[in-house]
Amino acid sequence: MIVDAHLHLPCCEDTLLTLNDKKGRLLRDLVISGVDGAIVIADSELSSAIGTPKECVELFSDTGNIFVMGGISPIIDFEARMVQIDSYLERGLMVACKLYPGHESFYMDDSRLDEVYKLCKKHDVPLAVHTGWDNAQYNHPKYFAKIAEEHSALRIIICHLWWPDIDLCYRLTSEYPNIFYDISSLAYEANHLEKTRSSLNHIAEKDAHRIIFGSDYGMCSIKSHIDLVNSLDIDDFNKHLILCDNAVKLFNLKFCAIE
Ligand SMILES: [Zn+2]
Repeated sequence: MIVDAHLHLPCCEDTLLTLNDKKGRLLRDLVISGVDGAIVIADSELSSAIGTPKECVELFSDTGNIFVMGGISPIIDFEARMVQIDSYLERGLMVACKLYPGHESFYMDDSRLDEVYKLCKKHDVPLAVHTGWDNAQYNHPKYFAKIAEEHSALRIIICHLWWPDIDLCYRLTSEYPNIFYDISSLAYEANHLEKTRSSLNHIAEKDAHRIIFGSDYGMCSIKSHIDLVNSLDIDDFNKHLILCDNAVKLFNLKFCAIE
């Protein structure tokens, strides 16, 4: 069984006009890729091609193997979004929150984020954070070490492991057991794949239970990310942790029969 814990509604094709079109394509591609369950991540923006939290929650309300993570931002309609997500979490319609520093101009030491940490702790759900790629100064791993230390009950997912400097990310954060690593988008740059594989092998040797499978589908290929996990020098038990069990446990996923 495979759970993809980081994907978005596909938005790169002109033929997918409605949210329902995007949902249909996503569900089809999950089947083609052999993925049994997934977490769709909604945007923090007020309107978005990948869907807002409200749109994604409503879109997948009848789909027992798809869960929703809600985007939130201290600089976009923060108070109203906090109330909305609090309500979705309360009703079990969402499994986590997501921040996008770097896509947006706020740093991970922004004191307004204390409210988000409090919200996640109140509902005992993880907080995922976009890191690395462009504008990586906003989400440097040094911030995560500090947050993890101050909020030991908060489970934090460092998405993309601050790519391309995965090694530094792991070095600065590995001592905090409440930090997890999502490998989404790491197979995107074929030129970097060997370096990425060697860095991931190093982490998987000690901490396979903290690596979460994600592809960033919508932008990236699911298959190339499954291939990346299968190419690691670890046994099948640990591959299964990464591809499935870690996410089920971290997000407390409860699958229902697909209607
Ligand atoms: Zn993503």
